[in-house]
This record gives sequence, C-alpha cells and structure tokens, in this order.
Amino acid sequence: QDMYGDRLNSLGRDYTQAADREAHQRALEAVDVERLVAGPIVGGALGAGVEPYEATSPSDRSRVLGQVSEASKADIDRAVALGHEAQGEWDRLGGPMRAAVLRRLADALEAQLDRFVALLSREAGKTLNDGVAEVREACDFLRYYALLAEQQFAGPITLKGPVGETNQLELRGRGVFVCISPWNFPLAIFTGQIAAALAAGNAVLAKPAEQTPLVAAEAVRLFHSAGLDPRLLALLPGRGETVGAALTEHPGIDGVAFTGGTETAWRINRALAAKPGPIVPFIAETGGLNGMFVDTTALREQVIDDVLLSAVGSAGQRCSALRVLYAPKDSADMLIEGLKGALEAMVIGDPADPSTDIGPVIDAEAREALEAHVTRLEGDARIIYRKPLGDLAGRGDFFAPTIAEVPSPDYLERETFGPILHVYRYDPADLEAVAKKLAARGYGLTLGVHSRIDAFAREVMELVPAGNVYVNRSIIGAVVGVQPFGGEGLSGTGPKAGGPHALLRYASERAVSVNI
Ligand code: GLU
Repeated sequence: QDMYGDRLNSLGRDYTQAADREAHQRALEAVDVERLVAGPIVGGALGAGVEPYEATSPSDRSRVLGQVSEASKADIDRAVALGHEAQGEWDRLGGPMRAAVLRRLADALEAQLDRFVALLSREAGKTLNDGVAEVREACDFLRYYALLAEQQFAGPITLKGPVGETNQLELRGRGVFVCISPWNFPLAIFTGQIAAALAAGNAVLAKPAEQTPLVAAEAVRLFHSAGLDPRLLALLPGRGETVGAALTEHPGIDGVAFTGGTETAWRINRALAAKPGPIVPFIAETGGLNGMFVDTTALREQVIDDVLLSAVGSAGQRCSALRVLYAPKDSADMLIEGLKGALEAMVIGDPADPSTDIGPVIDAEAREALEAHVTRLEGDARIIYRKPLGDLAGRGDFFAPTIAEVPSPDYLERETFGPILHVYRYDPADLEAVAKKLAARGYGLTLGVHSRIDAFAREVMELVPAGNVYVNRSIIGAVVGVQPFGGEGLSGTGPKAGGPHALLRYASERAVSVNI
C-alpha cells in the first residue's frame, strides 16, 4: 500500500501548457486586486490586533499586498483559553476521525492551488515551480499526518503482561501547541507543523513569520471554512521578540514546534527552561551548513545541474540549500567554468513570471546581510561570478547570485541564507581532514555526494553528520513520506518532518495497567 493510502502525492502544474499558464494569470490578477488582510484570528474571528502596517512584495516594494497587524497579549490569552476548551474533545475523537478532518483541509487547499501559488509569489517571492511544490507539500503534510493519526492514534496498544493484568499504552494530545514557522516555507512548513500538532490531538497557536502573515491568514481561513473547529487553530501574527516571546513564556502552553534559525531556537529553549511549571517539550528544526563532495568520477553536467538547483534555486533560501561545494582539484576548474556558464543562462526576475528561475530574497535585511558577506568574500576569497541584476536592483529585494572560491574548507562559520555558492578546491588525499573541518562546525542537516564510487559516498557519509544525505542528485526538496526531513546538532532536535515518527513528540503516552 502507498504511504498515502489510496492516493498519491498531490499533483502539480505544467507551465509549458497554455491552460496552466492562463489559470495562473487569472489567479494572479485576482490576488492583485484583492486587499489582503492578516491579523490575529482567534475563535475564527479576525481581531483588530496592534501595530498595523502595510505589507509589500519582495519583488516590487511599490506593490502593496494588504494590511497586517500583530496579535496582542489579550489575543494570545484568549487563544490559549479557547484551545484548552476545544482540545479535550478533539483528542477524544481519536486518530481516524481527526484524519478525516485533515483530509478535508488538504482537499480544500489543493482546490485553491493556483490562488496560493499567486499569493506565494507575491508575498514570499516564490517562483511558480517553487510555489506549486510548496502547495503540494502542504497538502502532503496534511494527508501524511492524517494517515499516521489513523495508524498510530486509533486506540490503545495492548502490551504483554502477567496473567490477571491488562496493560495498554495510549497516545494522547498534549494540549495547546505553539507552532512558530519560517518565511521560507510560509505555507508548507506552516501547515506541516499545524497538521502534526492537530493529528496528534492538540489545539494549535500558530505564529507565522513576520514577513509572511498573509499566506498564513489565507490558509487559516480556508482550514476553518473547510470544517476545522476554529478554537483548535488560532493565528497569532507578529514579531518573534513580541508575539513569539509572549507565546513561549505563556504558562498555558504544552509544547512548542519551531522552524527557523539556530539562534532563535536557543532563545526559545532558554525561555522555556526559565519558566516555572511543567517542562515544555520543544521541537526545533534549524539551519544547516550543507556541503556537497564531488569526486573525479562524477558526471559533470549532472553535477552542474544539481549544484545550481541546490545552491541558487529558491534563491538559496532553504535550510537544505547547498552552501559549500567541495570540488576535487583535478576537475575543479572544469566544474567552475560549467557552473558559471549555467548560472549565466538562468533567469532572475519577477517570480510570478513562468520563465523566472530565481526570484528575490525575502527582505532588505536579508539582502544587506548577503551583501555584507560578499564584501567579506571580496576581501579574502575569489569571486568567480556575480549575476548582473540590471534594473531589478532598484525594484525589489533582489540579490545577485554569486559563486566564490574560498581558501579553507571551513571558511563558513554559519549558513549564508541566500544564493551564494562557495567552492572549495580539495586534494583527494586530504578528504578526511577536509570533511572533518566541515563536520566540526556542528551542523548536521543535508549532505550531498556526487560520485560513481559507492565507497567514496560511504566515506563522506561517515565523516560528515547529516539528517538527509543525497547521492548523485540535488540536496533540496525533501518529499513528505519519501525523504523524512530534519537534522541533528546545531540543525535541530528531530523528529523528522514528513517521517513516520513525526507525531510522537507532539503526544504524551499513558500506560494503563488493570488488575482483573
Ligand atoms: N524541506 C525543505 C527541503 O528539503 C527545506 C526546509 C527548510 O528550508 O526549512 O528543501
């Protein structure tokens, strides 16, 4: 049986077909004349919130998308209370009934694919292919966790015990779960966290990233209208320092799921540890410092395709993205030439245009941090290529994709979250020392290998920790139920998103022993 029961992963679009292009164009036009609104959604009602501002598009800062406001302390208190009010009943419904609700949400979302692709390109700067992949991934999370709820939360498991006693183990929701999601997957990770928490029998307080509240608000409205009790899912938009902090410090919460930067994960972990009362479980999925090791047996064209997709695809704004390519000294020049030529041929521009390969970065802060990194590279590395931006530069937060050769295997101390590919030229005789330097940075998310020699791939895998290893392919785009995603060390706590054990940390276990 397929992982999804009787249905396959959600289907996509083909923008080489006129019908799909026209559907996209219609959705985009509709979104552009709408006045989108995001604010606190508590008990199904949109509140006024505080600190209102206008949201604009990263690809064109003169394009106003809608009105956003932050959740207040009172919104948060009410959301916590409503969550507790509804959670017990939701939990007692059991996995199979909850699964039916989650599947309805997936169907509703899938029916709105074109609209969400348009929203993602406007608010998050996603290209069409990335937008489609993201909507599909969100649907996949809902359906996959529905299946897990059915399989793992259908009822107590009977355990063997002494004669005269029954022993059962049951999984139950923990209560009210806080889900804090990133702007780089404002629909897929947002929905994935919510789906996991709901599937396990919790109520959810969702805090979307401050850069992408509109997509989140649209998703929450859709989920409520598709049949989810609004008390089970509140939207609490705002900044990490205000809303994020108020949520994690709240005495009424029972768990936190977070995807974002490692520094923020430390901060949340400290806040939870400092809080009196119950010990609150924390699920963190954070950054990576991801490398790919190539040897001289690798197929050049395939390496070039996979490296560029992994490093500059999605404007490098994935935690799985490739940051450092380790190229063997004998083929490094050939690879560098090919990468430069292929990047020259890629199209950077308006993400809503079907011909665009690379869109903008998320905001001015991200763009400036990347520019500062390039200034450092100009000082102590060798810039191989920067893609010209032309007149895009003044319009939105576009950043020129860059390839640079770095002088040491551990040149990067932390991830550079954007389309910058670092190349390190290594001597195969030093493979072990080079790989250990990367490993010593302490991350453990994705790792790539390109080689036709199994022993090479195995050696690299032994040397560099990673939750997701990809051999002879790109290192991005983990598929729900196929490549469970998540890392170790500085990259996160697990459990893996989209994997068979994803729901367990969202649940508590109770063993019931009866003397009969
Ligand atoms: N799951 C995504 C991938 O495999 C990355 C998620 C993230 O950037 O947080 O590319």
